[in-house]
Amino acid sequence: MDKILVHICCGVDAVWALRKIKEEFENSEIKGFFYDPNIHPEEEYELRWIETKRVCDSLGIECIKGEYDVENWLERVKGYENEPERGERCTICHDIRLERSAKLAKELGFNKFTTVLMMSPKKDFQVLKNVGEEIAGRYGLEFLAIEFRKGGGIEKMNKLSKEQQLYHQNYCGCIYGLFKQREGLDIIPELVSFGKGRLPGSREELLFVKQIRAYAESRGIVCDEQTFEFINWRVVSSVLKVGKEHISHTVLPYSSSVKGVLRARVDRILDREDKRVVKLNKTNTEIWVLDTGLREIPLEEPRFLTNPVLIVGKEYADMFETGKKVEIQLKTEFDYNAKSQNLVIGSLSALEKIFFYSDTLSDGTGGYRFEEIIGAINQNERDIVRGEKAIIVLGAETFGKLGRRAYKKLLEEQAIGHSL
Ligand code: SF4
Repeated sequence: MDKILVHICCGVDAVWALRKIKEEFENSEIKGFFYDPNIHPEEEYELRWIETKRVCDSLGIECIKGEYDVENWLERVKGYENEPERGERCTICHDIRLERSAKLAKELGFNKFTTVLMMSPKKDFQVLKNVGEEIAGRYGLEFLAIEFRKGGGIEKMNKLSKEQQLYHQNYCGCIYGLFKQREGLDIIPELVSFGKGRLPGSREELLFVKQIRAYAESRGIVCDEQTFEFINWRVVSSVLKVGKEHISHTVLPYSSSVKGVLRARVDRILDREDKRVVKLNKTNTEIWVLDTGLREIPLEEPRFLTNPVLIVGKEYADMFETGKKVEIQLKTEFDYNAKSQNLVIGSLSALEKIFFYSDTLSDGTGGYRFEEIIGAINQNERDIVRGEKAIIVLGAETFGKLGRRAYKKLLEEQAIGHSL
């Protein structure tokens, strides 16, 4: 019996390609191998892995997760950073991934290997075939050069990936390709890290949702994701110094940027019912000292650009005295194509719903832990499978409760009477 190891780069490329391999080689043993050391950043790598595993699980194909040896990959492509896509760097990148796959195939005692990279319309089939066959020759294996795209393969891939609600990445994977693709932009959103947080519309929020979905599906529970679009606002960078000390802070949503470096002094301190407002001289930028967390500020009504407001906890209240020197740097931006998603675990028509949300504040507080939601799935599994209960994970809660609005709209559209 033939044993085929299939190198997999992402769920989308695998969703039709694996079916085709199963069809064409029905009496063979097929195993997947996710090997993507080229992917940047690591959250993106994890996202592609989760989606790859979902696809493999749905087809009953075991998939091995390769090592994320990104340093080795960067070393190997040194000197080719500025190559265009499909250039010399890509050939080396294919080489690295196929060579590692061939090595594993040999170790596992497989006799054939292939790659779903041949599915992608952005990849050169002939180049992949040449690389694959050359490597196969060295390892005493056969490389299967399969024309996945023939016979409407791309349409089938798109249809299946839509049906399975797979994450569809918008760049090939490496940092150099991304630099080229985003040339001219001040900031490359894909490379912005939100630290510990899962901000609305961020990759971290999506990864969290995908991890929960993968778990629920592994328990045989049907899931549905509804993606919604919104105009996002985010902090690109911010610094707050009082005297020489850096102060940890958050930024009020929809704050505008501060031009350059703002150096001012504390002018007045106003005690309001819910906060202390620190007014600075020569500027409309404010600092709010809150007893409670940022979550307590009602964000229901989007303000769309306020004066810059930085928020600190009450432990810093004593630092702000009249005349004290303050330094602020703040860059914020809007993203007009932001997306978040709600996840329905079980049936939308279940009478009892348990609600969670997927996002957090930028410091990682104010949200749910993965274990909490998994615990709720485990505890209610029987009722969820019976259609009596459902778990709803809402997106973009900290951003004007956008997930809730999208969810309500969905209920109305589907004419389901009960709501939140
Ligand atoms: S653009 Fe894609 S194929 Fe080319 S080097 Fe980067 S990740 Fe590899």
